[in-house]
Amino acid sequence: MKAVRKLAQGTGQVALCDIPEPDPRPGCVKIAVKAGGICGTDIHILHGGYAFNPPVTLGHEIAGEVVEVGQGVDRVRAGDRVTVLPSAMGRCGVCRFCKSGFYFYCVNRSSIGSKTDGGFAEYCVVPQDLIYLLPEDVDYRAGSLTEPLACCVQAVYELTAIAPSDVVLISGPGPIGMICAALVKLQGAAVILCGTAQDRERLEMARSFGVDRTVDVTTEDAAQVARDMTDGYGADVVLECVGVGPSVNQCLEAVARLGRYTQVGLLDHPAQIDFGKVIYKQLRVQGALGQAWSTWEKTLRLLRRGAIDMNRFITHEVPLDRWQEAFDNTEQKRGLKNVLCP
Ligand SMILES: [Zn+2]
Ligand SMILES: [Zn+2]
Repeated sequence: MKAVRKLAQGTGQVALCDIPEPDPRPGCVKIAVKAGGICGTDIHILHGGYAFNPPVTLGHEIAGEVVEVGQGVDRVRAGDRVTVLPSAMGRCGVCRFCKSGFYFYCVNRSSIGSKTDGGFAEYCVVPQDLIYLLPEDVDYRAGSLTEPLACCVQAVYELTAIAPSDVVLISGPGPIGMICAALVKLQGAAVILCGTAQDRERLEMARSFGVDRTVDVTTEDAAQVARDMTDGYGADVVLECVGVGPSVNQCLEAVARLGRYTQVGLLDHPAQIDFGKVIYKQLRVQGALGQAWSTWEKTLRLLRRGAIDMNRFITHEVPLDRWQEAFDNTEQKRGLKNVLCP
C-alpha cells in the first residue's frame, strides 16, 4: 500500500513509500483511511523539529472505514465510519496523568502519526479504545478534523472561562485559531481575530464565518482595537494561537487587567516576552496542549449536534500521491486546511 513516511531523523526524509498492508493485531481494528488532515506538527516533523520514531507513517488526523477487526474487538465492526484519538497511543494507564484523564502527559505515549504508524496511508491499524464512531451527518473529510477540533474544545471550553458578554481576542488565523473563533462564537462572545498581511484571505474567510472584527497587525494596533471595543479596558480573554514572541506580547498588551490569557500556539523556541504584564495586570495564564479523555466526548457531541461545520475549514483536498503539494500549501499558508485523501 501507499504511505507517506518519515524515513530518518533530520530535515526532509519524507517520501511516498510502498509498504505491506498492516494486519489488525488482537484488540485493534484495520481502517481504510478516507481522509487525513495535515497539521502544523506534520510540517515540524518534515523539518525534523518534533519527537518522532523513523521510519514511521505520518498523519494523526484520521477518518476512515473499518475494514477488519482483530481478535477480541467488540466495540466496532467492519463498515463502521470512525475517527481516531491518536495521542493516547501507548499510554501506561496507571500514572497520575493517565488516571486523571490527562493522558497527554504520560511519558509512555507513542502517538499515532509520529511515534507509531499514522493515517497518511491507504490503511492503518489502531487499538479499539482509540476509535470513535463518526456521527451520521459528519463526512470523512470533516471527521478527519476531530482531533484538531478536540484541541480547541479543551482550550476554549475546558480550560478558559468565557462569558457571552466577553470580548475575546484571538491571535493567529490558522486552522486552530479559526476553529477556536468558531467555538467562542458558539458561546456568544465577541471575537477579534488578528493576523498579518499574509493572512488577508484567511481574515476575509473569518469574517464570512461571523467573526466580529479582524485585525491586520501590520497596519492596525490590535490592543487599541480591543480597547475600542471594551470602553478602554482591553480584551477580557486572549487566545494566543501562533506561538511566536511578537504575538505573545501583542496578546499580553491587548488583554485587560484581571483578564485571562490562554496559550494555544506551540512555542518551539524561547521567546523574548514581557512576562511582567502577568503580575502588573494580575492575569490568569493557562496553557492548553492536546486534549483529555473528557474532551473527546464533548467534541463528538458537538459534531453529532451539527453545532460546528468542520468542512468549511477545508480548502484543499489532495490525493496521497501529491502529498508534497499539500504539505507546501500548509507551510505557505495557502488556503486554510489541507486534507489528504488516499
Ligand atoms: Zn493535529
Ligand atoms: Zn500514564
